[in-house]
Amino acid sequence: MDVAPLPYASSMTGMPSGLSPSSFSAFKDCPLAFKLSYLLGLPQPPSVPASKGTLVHAALERLMLREPEHRTLEHALVDLAAAREALADHPDFTGLELTDEQWQAFHADAATLVERYFQLEDPATVRPIGLELFVRAEIGGVRLRGIIDRLELDADGELVITDYKTGAVPGERYEQQRMAGVHMYAAMVESLLGKRPVRVQLLYLSAPEAINMATSAQMVTGVMRKTSALWAAIQRAAANDDFRASPGKLCDYCTFQPYCPAFGGDPEQARELLGPGTVIAPGLPLTTTAP
Ligand code: SF4
Repeated sequence: MDVAPLPYASSMTGMPSGLSPSSFSAFKDCPLAFKLSYLLGLPQPPSVPASKGTLVHAALERLMLREPEHRTLEHALVDLAAAREALADHPDFTGLELTDEQWQAFHADAATLVERYFQLEDPATVRPIGLELFVRAEIGGVRLRGIIDRLELDADGELVITDYKTGAVPGERYEQQRMAGVHMYAAMVESLLGKRPVRVQLLYLSAPEAINMATSAQMVTGVMRKTSALWAAIQRAAANDDFRASPGKLCDYCTFQPYCPAFGGDPEQARELLGPGTVIAPGLPLTTTAP
């Protein structure tokens, strides 16, 4: 689709105190979607791909908590069942409106992703030192925070960052962006631990395919420079309240499409995603629209 970017002005913008690497990627993909999601924090309904990813990540986390010799496929499927039970009441799952048949397909897909993980590496050889690790660091003058799926030691005792991906392997452009995110994590780990991870890897479970990349001091410098430049671009956009819609492939999956000017929508209406609020005394002349 070839739609000219549209300016969007609003007084709703507030800058967060820190951003995740994935939010930088989101800004590059579409500044308007970034603003609605990361600056305004508008809720997005749970989606099957995201919830499936959450489930598989939880199963692999449980697997890695086992002693190496017990990290078998059989145990991984036990861990998947346990994660399924633990997450059953989570809004990301209760909010999915699926038929019994669709739930069956959902869980069969999750099991397939776990099985395919075993084609990418032998989990008995992994030496994790951190799982679903929350990290926060200042990189290039920007406060970053996020969660690392797995931080481990390789055979030489060097740090490695692993990121599980449950979606399809992206095209070249998006792969670069995904790698940029993991490299940001590498820079954060170096800043926190004083030691640079020697390698980052993305494990695409659906393919299955592993994408590996060695890190370097030059890479970290590049990450810092790009992070600073992106942060400056975000600040400029915020100062002018100019977050433009940038239509592309991701529009098909974008929750905000009904409010997107590129699709004839009005971003101001996206406020309704906040919900109606709570009316305590219905007789009063109050509106139920979120402020
Ligand atoms: S529909 Fe596309 S252009 Fe519009 S906000 Fe979403 S990603 Fe951006």
